[in-house]
Amino acid sequence: MFKFKRIAVKIGSNVLTRKDGTLDLTRMSALVDQIADLHKMGIEIVLVSSGAVASGKSELKVSKKLDAVSARQLYSAVGQAKLINRYYELFREHGLVCGQVLTTKENFGSRTHYLNQKHCMEVMLENKVIPIVNENDTISVTELMFTDNDELSGLIAAMMDMDALIILSNIDGIFNGDPSSPGTSVIAEINDTQEDLSEFIQPGKSSFGRGGMLTKCSIARKVAEEGIAVVIANGKRENVLCELLKNDSKTVCTRFIPSPKPVSSVKKWIAHSEGFAKGEVHINKGAETALLSPKATSVLLVGVTRIIGEFEKDDIVKLFNEEGKQLGVGCTAYNNKEAVKLMGVKDVKPLIHYDYLYLD
Ligand code: GLU
Repeated sequence: MFKFKRIAVKIGSNVLTRKDGTLDLTRMSALVDQIADLHKMGIEIVLVSSGAVASGKSELKVSKKLDAVSARQLYSAVGQAKLINRYYELFREHGLVCGQVLTTKENFGSRTHYLNQKHCMEVMLENKVIPIVNENDTISVTELMFTDNDELSGLIAAMMDMDALIILSNIDGIFNGDPSSPGTSVIAEINDTQEDLSEFIQPGKSSFGRGGMLTKCSIARKVAEEGIAVVIANGKRENVLCELLKNDSKTVCTRFIPSPKPVSSVKKWIAHSEGFAKGEVHINKGAETALLSPKATSVLLVGVTRIIGEFEKDDIVKLFNEEGKQLGVGCTAYNNKEAVKLMGVKDVKPLIHYDYLYLD
């Protein structure tokens, strides 16, 4: 009945909090009931839950006005403890154990940290523990923060080789216009041939979370291109998770159709690592044509025209064509000094091997 064996479920702050900012325990409990049901049916689930800042805020009365960073640190420190405690008790009622994984964007930048985190969650899943992931807002500084937990959930889905990512928000999906005007409706399916979706999407943000529909949509697209099904649905809808997983086509939601081409785990990591790029590699027309052909091709130094930035072997670099258009990202096999020396040289080890290259 269930085609997915391993899924990530992202629950947004707006699903978990009431209008006044307090935790909506009824909703939380209903979602835990559904996750517990699915877990008992053998589906492996990683939960990415927001709500720390929102629930901390409703707990505290601060006397003097706080700057944005102090407020986030203070509220998340208190709110995360409250949130995980609630989850722990709710799962325990089902005889299940959950565990907390707090992370930062930096942990996704190096392959070693990345694999370490993956290992932690694999071990939890093996032992039937439900990982509950959130950003460690107490130590994430602005420049290095995730855009929002949608971005984090995309990284987790790619890292854990998920079959599906379900993003639960307080709206029914991606609308083909302003959701409040008559005649607009939820787009049921989005595939990778569909053109720019930004014209449909409202730039506005939801009130408690950090994210907006545009980030949701671009993350969803990227994850679907990596072969993972993505669904954006309303987390406040009764029994939404169970309905979605039974592939009930009647459930109002937006489904992003996954690309049928499998993408390796390393490539998935590289695809999400653009933000950590240390340098730029520019290639000539011939090299570009070879890369864009259906044959698996590496980036060879003979076709490289320019190298910018300082990087070490195994760092992430961005790849550009002659016109300055970004073609993708890759993990380099040389540091920048060696690469500059060998630029234009034939018959040496590729600068970026095909297995470590992700083209946009
Ligand atoms: N990490 C934040 C929290 O738990 C939420 C970030 C977001 O809004 O996506 O409060």
